[in-house]
Amino acid sequence: MKDRTLLMIPGPIEFEPAVLAALGAPTTSHVAPDFIEAFGQALERLREVFLCPDGQPFVVAGSGTLAMDLAGANLVEPGDRALVYNTGYFGDRYGALLERYGAQVTHVRAPVGGRPGLDEVESALEQIQPKLMTVTHVDTSTGVIADVEALSALAQECGTLIVVDGVCSVAGEELRMAEWGVDVALTASQKAISVPPGLALLVAGPRALDAFHSRETPVANYYADWSNWLPVMEAYEARRPSYFGTPAVNLIWALNVSVGQILDEGMDARVARHRSLSRACKAAIAALGLGQVPLEPEFAANTMTAPRYPAGVGAADLLPRIKKAGAILAGGLHPQIKAEYFRIGHMGPTNAGDLLATVGAVETGLAGCGYAFKAGTGVAAAIAAM
Ligand code: PMP
Repeated sequence: MKDRTLLMIPGPIEFEPAVLAALGAPTTSHVAPDFIEAFGQALERLREVFLCPDGQPFVVAGSGTLAMDLAGANLVEPGDRALVYNTGYFGDRYGALLERYGAQVTHVRAPVGGRPGLDEVESALEQIQPKLMTVTHVDTSTGVIADVEALSALAQECGTLIVVDGVCSVAGEELRMAEWGVDVALTASQKAISVPPGLALLVAGPRALDAFHSRETPVANYYADWSNWLPVMEAYEARRPSYFGTPAVNLIWALNVSVGQILDEGMDARVARHRSLSRACKAAIAALGLGQVPLEPEFAANTMTAPRYPAGVGAADLLPRIKKAGAILAGGLHPQIKAEYFRIGHMGPTNAGDLLATVGAVETGLAGCGYAFKAGTGVAAAIAAM
């Protein structure tokens, strides 16, 4: 029997064998000609993944929070006003991060599982006239997806920069950076980009770079300062060696393999596949009689699902049973409802078989907890919705 439990949390996820092979290959020098080629190619491919032909990609060793920092540290100067479109835990984090750099932060919030209305955002933008607005594309604590296209249009009307935290969205959800006018989009390697944890990825559009170049104060974070990384990214893309901090060589080899696979699948096909997996998962959860954290179906992300525990069933009982039945899922994260829901990630290389196996494991777990339902209901709904 294969000794394998599916890792179906919203990051890190399971990775393709070719990506893991690149990670396990002998480490090269960071200035070896073949590494320079791979790094340069990965940067070019990131532009295509982010759909931002005129953007500047950055690849820096660190987690997604560093990617958030790479935007915050470089775009905020003390006293700048910032608006946070807040749909959960990661919106709170972005607000705290921007404040650390001296921003005056206003949050537009909604009840947990909801999202602030566009009218509220529009009036906040008009009233505050912020330098930048952050939007968490998919807040992993609620599974709520933001309407980035509409928010970006509002920001552009006000001359406000829009920074999209796409840690749980890039390469899974539709995100058309240039077409929608997004100024910065960022992510981390371990989610839909499908590379083990360790890389912060960011693409800055022309307006963001202009704002950076016209700063009056130095960037208050040495490691994250774009001045240190811009020459390095430009050099590698021009196939020249360069150095500021030693690049995460093996992760970058693995990144180049993964972004190659992502582009081979095609961005539209990839988004469509994520939507199909998501439909199947949500149909299964609904058929089993479980609610979900997003308050409206159109608020629900495609990279993950956030089911609520049915009455009488709790995390400590259910999740270990689901794991024993073959799938590792995540508990709640949002502090207000932490004990009320769990999270299923379905992004990157996840396929239909993985999803059906996960739904089967959820059914086994629920049955073990004494929850009453007709066996196979969830699996049948998932198959019908795919
Ligand atoms: N933003 C979002 C939307 C996330 O889901 C996460 C991680 N779950 C982060 C930021 C932070 O990323 P990391 O944990 O890699 O620092």
